[in-house]
Amino acid sequence: MSCEEPGCPPGPLERVLPPKSGSDELLRCRACGALYRTRHTYEFLIPGSYEEDTFWRLSEDARKVITEIVALPARRDELLSTALRDPSQEIADCAALIFWGAACAGESLPQSLVAAAEAHPASSPHGLNQSYRGLLEILRRGPAEAAAVGAALDRARALGREHVYAQTLRSALARR
Ligand SMILES: [Zn+2]
Repeated sequence: MSCEEPGCPPGPLERVLPPKSGSDELLRCRACGALYRTRHTYEFLIPGSYEEDTFWRLSEDARKVITEIVALPARRDELLSTALRDPSQEIADCAALIFWGAACAGESLPQSLVAAAEAHPASSPHGLNQSYRGLLEILRRGPAEAAAVGAALDRARALGREHVYAQTLRSALARR
């Protein structure tokens, strides 16, 4: 895959955050800074199954927000807590992917927990699944993190924005 930015010399794209994300990736052109997303969709159907890989260049608005989150690790938690609630599905979904990757990388994300535990109308099912995976990763770290995820789920429910995977997360908490 190479850069599709008009006027950009075609060059290889490098992987940016997250370091671990299955087959969904965030990629950047080293020459011009354009950002790209890949998304792998798999649906188990009877009969057969459905698989699709998509690849697209992020909008300019999303590029600005996501570049900042990637470039500023010290502010990542704060920036993610806002971006996860962004009315743009592209931004909210990229934030969920980064949240998941940062959670897998062991980053501390206390400010983002409530935003990740909320079901946003703008998020796609894909984005909700990735924020769920990030929360699951964090709650497995230990008792303090599990308690923080539980509190975030309670807060989201109190706000009337319960996550579609809240019940699964609560089951994981109960099994600890
Ligand atoms: Zn480029």
